[in-house]
Amino acid sequence: MKTLQVKLNAAASRVSLIGFVTVLVVISTCKGSANVAATEGQQQQPASSQPTWQPNAAELDPPANAPAALKVDGKRAFQLTSDFVAIGPRGLGSDGHKKAVDYITSQLKAAGAAVEYDQFDAQTAAGKFPVTNIIGKIQGKKDGVIALAGHYETNLPTSDDLKAATAAGQIFVGANDGGSTTGLMLEIANVLNKQKGSAAAIDGYSVWFVFTDAEEATVKWSDADSVYGSKHLAKKWQQDGTSQKVKALLLLDMIGDKDLDVQRDENSTPWLLDVVYRASQRLGTQSHFFKQTTAVEDDHKPFAKIGIPVADIIDLDYGFNNVYHHTSQDTMDKLSPKSLQIVGDVVLETIRALNTH
Ligand code: ZN
Repeated sequence: MKTLQVKLNAAASRVSLIGFVTVLVVISTCKGSANVAATEGQQQQPASSQPTWQPNAAELDPPANAPAALKVDGKRAFQLTSDFVAIGPRGLGSDGHKKAVDYITSQLKAAGAAVEYDQFDAQTAAGKFPVTNIIGKIQGKKDGVIALAGHYETNLPTSDDLKAATAAGQIFVGANDGGSTTGLMLEIANVLNKQKGSAAAIDGYSVWFVFTDAEEATVKWSDADSVYGSKHLAKKWQQDGTSQKVKALLLLDMIGDKDLDVQRDENSTPWLLDVVYRASQRLGTQSHFFKQTTAVEDDHKPFAKIGIPVADIIDLDYGFNNVYHHTSQDTMDKLSPKSLQIVGDVVLETIRALNTH
């Protein structure tokens, strides 16, 4: 279970007018059950360790004479998502999972990325499974890496969330959950590759596309039964020194929802979230970002623990009360090219800002 706490942002809430009352909504995201409680001055402790790089976000605003940001093609991102989701369920050890790896690999190669794998066997709560993190690398002129990450697999039928649906013959394809981010990351790779043209490297830092595996709980969400792929890759990056090179990791999760409202995640690095928000302001799309504050358990936490600045760009409010999350209702008709466009452009504008440093 990903336990999510949502606090209405005081600036965006009428609550602020009647005092320092914060409405705390605790949502059990597994099955959309929600408990609502009111508290006062509630504070949460971010789980991430302090990264060594801690700039002020405003210092990273691109100068007026900097080249304009690149833009994604939202329709193309949507088509890539649709093609990927058409594979069907992509649970660990399944044929669909193998097809997903092949699809991502071929699209990354078509986008000019060098493809590497981080493969291992994970002893999960539901048994032993092969796990494959896929990393597409586009070389940059600057020394350092900006990582984009998102998981691509779907929950196993053994997970508590899907047991009932599976028993009822329903199929979970994760159009938003694992699908939208895969399509968008592949489109961003396309855009950067176009910018590179015949050059050996893109302007700015290298960009790595990290398609994580085994993010979902195999039975029931806990620190032990979740983010198997990210934990493995973060350990590897810590041991081989890669963690020193990664300037920032932007995690994308469930960002295709037509009703796009990305929450501000308290397990992310504050200055990096500020860079993301300032990017959205420059693009005029800030109404879709950070009206609510959350603390999300996700793939970013293992990387935060090894000192990488992280931002989880997640809309964990999918359908009323998050009702589509981890159900057979998570299908393409709930997504829109526009949402992919908004998030993709903010990611590219965030990369532009990070490249000013
Ligand atoms: Zn999920």
